Amino acid sequence: MNRFTYANHPNYYVKTPKLIYVDRYGNIYPDCKTYKTRPICHITEKNAAAIVYEQAFDTMDRGIFNMITIEVSSVCQANCLYCFQNDAHRNDKYAFYDYLLSFLERLEAYWVFFSGGEILIQKEAMDFMRKYRASNPNTWIHLKSNGNAGEVEAKFVSEVCNSIMISFNGFSTSSYRTIMGLDIEKTKRFCEIIKKTGKTNLGVKLLNSPISISETPEFLEWAFSITPKCIVIQNAFNYTIDSSGKSIRLESTLPECDCSPYWKDVYRAIGLRCDCVLDKWYDKINKGSNYLTADKDFLNLVVLSPRNKALFRTDGIYVIE
Ligand code: SF4
Repeated sequence: MNRFTYANHPNYYVKTPKLIYVDRYGNIYPDCKTYKTRPICHITEKNAAAIVYEQAFDTMDRGIFNMITIEVSSVCQANCLYCFQNDAHRNDKYAFYDYLLSFLERLEAYWVFFSGGEILIQKEAMDFMRKYRASNPNTWIHLKSNGNAGEVEAKFVSEVCNSIMISFNGFSTSSYRTIMGLDIEKTKRFCEIIKKTGKTNLGVKLLNSPISISETPEFLEWAFSITPKCIVIQNAFNYTIDSSGKSIRLESTLPECDCSPYWKDVYRAIGLRCDCVLDKWYDKINKGSNYLTADKDFLNLVVLSPRNKALFRTDGIYVIE
């Protein structure tokens, strides 16, 4: 599918994107589920699509959303230390597939994102996505995944998804197993299969915490070597989840730079090592692939050379199409 260029993609330059987030409880939010805004309505409401159109565009049936995110069950084979979905409903089945297809078919969006939990271990979610793909061949379908999967799942991704973002909560055997409880080699192999198959745009994301942030240079080196569409670096936060399923972001897992001489030196050393990798790959960054995005939080801690810092988008958008 070849719809836009980097220069004219509506999602890369929009100032106030039109967003919808349908959470695993069926609540529909007009943002990325920040909980700063109340839900617009519930997916089981009779006119849910018309209600969200009216709220976004002042009309019942027109307009293109920049992004619709659908969160299904939070069942996952990982057990991340700071998972934002680890509440009493963690293993519940998703209850709204019967409403979801007709809801989505009434809406138009540049990107439709699906996330779990982990969808690649949820047969029902994959069956739903196949059905949605079959009836919407021209929709851009994106999957968020931990990527700890094999060839069967890679085939599903190549047949159904235009793009996939795979998150690493660490980039060594030890930190990945400690944080996620999984084997990192399996995830790296999966990324390499997706890339080799060549049907689905690949994004890779590193979510940093104290035991993994020094692995950022190795992550960047590996990521550049497989040439994904985009590479994202974020800092991990702690979450608390209330009884209604609302996850509230707490403090960063990473200490501030000035909290001790130790951390100041650690961040400085990581910055120097990241600069070496970025200098090496400089000519292959942000040129049709290897698009970089990072949190401002990350770039505040890990100081890069001005030239390398300028390579990163910091508006939260990753270039996946
Ligand atoms: S991969 Fe995502 S959903 Fe699964 S445990 Fe980790 S943070 Fe939670």
